[in-house]
Amino acid sequence: MRVARQTRYGQLIRRCLRRWIPAGHAPWRRFPAWSDVPRRRWYDWRWQWRHLIRTAADLERLGLLRPDVAERLRSVTDTYPVVVSPYYASLMDPDDPADPIRRQAVPDLEEVTSPTRLSPDPLGEGRLEVVPGLIHRYADRVLLIASNMCSTFCRHCFRKRILGRPGVATAVRHLDAAVDYIRRHPEVRDVILSGGDPLVLPTSILARLLRALRSIPHVEIIRLGTRVPVTLPMRVWDPALLAVLDRYGPIWCLTQFNHPREVTPETDATVQMLLRVGVPVLNQAVLLRGINDDVETQRALHRALVRACIKPYYLHHADPVRGTHHFRTSLTRGLEIMEGLRGHISGIAIPTYVVDLPDGGGKVPLLPDYRVAVGPGVWVFRNHRGELFAYGVEPMGDGTQRLGTSE
Ligand code: SF4
Repeated sequence: MRVARQTRYGQLIRRCLRRWIPAGHAPWRRFPAWSDVPRRRWYDWRWQWRHLIRTAADLERLGLLRPDVAERLRSVTDTYPVVVSPYYASLMDPDDPADPIRRQAVPDLEEVTSPTRLSPDPLGEGRLEVVPGLIHRYADRVLLIASNMCSTFCRHCFRKRILGRPGVATAVRHLDAAVDYIRRHPEVRDVILSGGDPLVLPTSILARLLRALRSIPHVEIIRLGTRVPVTLPMRVWDPALLAVLDRYGPIWCLTQFNHPREVTPETDATVQMLLRVGVPVLNQAVLLRGINDDVETQRALHRALVRACIKPYYLHHADPVRGTHHFRTSLTRGLEIMEGLRGHISGIAIPTYVVDLPDGGGKVPLLPDYRVAVGPGVWVFRNHRGELFAYGVEPMGDGTQRLGTSE
């Protein structure tokens, strides 16, 4: 029975890889260090995991850091460790130090020149931790820190305070306490597994976690907050993992693509596998200076996501986290970008721009102001072309008419 199930998922994987990844697609061969890695090995997540890039010297050998820069980065990497999957590194342009993929994963001196007044935990998650590794901020949902490891450590991560740190309290280590807490709180309907990345856990441990959560009758939704589809998609190409996701659904995958170049044929194959085991995929991009803080990049990103059957969910304003100030933009810039999306790309491709308020205040959505005046019984709106319209407030709609343009 077990073999039959594995075979079923194995067939699904092979079908998706054949359908979505062109024969001869081997971008990793651009890198001399990987020029002779066969496709079968490259696409084995265990090989990727064994070859994770963990030092500035490794990045230098791949041509992703200049030797003089690598030497000076020790102060950064001692504080904020490096982990980059070969797959994610293979998306980088070694000739461009400002490459948007590279900047998300290669350390930068700016991380340790961050103003020390910035908190490592501005959202106050530590204060909201109810049992080790379990954060209860909104009444109906909890966030479970499943791991302090990821397949790539993002330099902009708002939880960089825990990444790779020994002794971090994860809910996996305190599973009984976490499950007991959720069981005693029937108002909790939604559990978000995050970290770190829950999909880097061994499949058997993930299965134990999901089984425990599914044994709680009032838990309706389980979400996986994971960047695996972006940084290590081949982790999903594992029959045992797909079987677990299928078995313990409904499960939603919340991922984080930040740049259109991250959406690859490997992404297409991965998303199709997830969809076919009943896992919808949503994206929570982060607005990052020099990476995606312009209208053209955001349009291209969100179009690419929809093409890959990923629903854009949030565009997060980057939080004021120590070590990440150089990635932040202004709220005004974020609103200009949202203005450049609405009316210019498909409505299903438009995320909600949100700012997470400090100290557990929660998320609030931000929208450009399309209502330009309020009169008695009539509001005046502008559309994405700057045309003005009066709109009757009451059900009969008296006063609704086109007015002209705002210029
Ligand atoms: S994958 Fe997620 S948790 Fe891990 S470093 Fe990136 S943003 Fe942070």
